[in-house]
Amino acid sequence: MRVRARIVLVLWLAASVVPACSPASRQASSSPSRPPTSLPSTTASTPTAVPASPTPPPAGSLVLPRTVTGSAVVVARGSPARRTVFLTFDAGSDTGFAAQILDTLKAAGVSATFGITGRWAEQNAPLVRRIVAEGHSIVNHTYDHRSFTGVSSHAAPLSPGDRIAEIAHADQVLTGLAGHPVKPWFRLPYGDGDHNVNAQVLQAGYRYVLGWTVDSLGWQGLSAPAISTRCLSRAAPGVIYLFHVGSQSQDSVALPGMIQSLKDQGYGFDTVADLGA
Ligand SMILES: [Zn+2]
Repeated sequence: MRVRARIVLVLWLAASVVPACSPASRQASSSPSRPPTSLPSTTASTPTAVPASPTPPPAGSLVLPRTVTGSAVVVARGSPARRTVFLTFDAGSDTGFAAQILDTLKAAGVSATFGITGRWAEQNAPLVRRIVAEGHSIVNHTYDHRSFTGVSSHAAPLSPGDRIAEIAHADQVLTGLAGHPVKPWFRLPYGDGDHNVNAQVLQAGYRYVLGWTVDSLGWQGLSAPAISTRCLSRAAPGVIYLFHVGSQSQDSVALPGMIQSLKDQGYGFDTVADLGA
């Protein structure tokens, strides 16, 4: 079999990931003036032989390890060799602007990735079905968005069993609504993770933890123009943007202009489904 060497880039989340996704995060010490992102802390760039696949990912794509052992792999950026970005939206609080975001994506002909909690999915089943029907990717975001480590929620860490149960419960709900498996992508509530968490994510059957490169900070109350300026100034090939659907964020208001500007700069839009995992 022809074996082709490719570069595997694994970008690890910093331990001090920017908290996100919740009112509790407003009390965190991070502010819009802090550096754009705490990701990544280190970059491991290791040439790795990957067997040729019958359905290879698009040219320039990130090539993820097919076999993952020990801990789930954290992915905070796509390939810098491919002029695409990833729009990712977390849904774990209120219904918010989910429908408007889907309208914007549909009008622009753009696919995105949604990190959805099991509870949000139960409360917004028609929207979940629409997300799937319109070709977007779904990522498991736990059942009810409790911090695994307790760092952002100032609570006790969840036990390993509770963490796995959170993932399994969400998997059951999301798979039922989507009509297809949502593995292998998982996103941590608040980005609160560590090596033990990543091991438990893998035990729960999820091989990849979806991080982000640029947090819009819409959840911190930035205005739509400020979100747009922040995100566009950090645009680069492979960037994974973190947005939220909840009503506390103006991400959805900024979205149409950001998409148009990114298109004008020649960017395409990938989802986790394009990562060849
Ligand atoms: Zn979240």
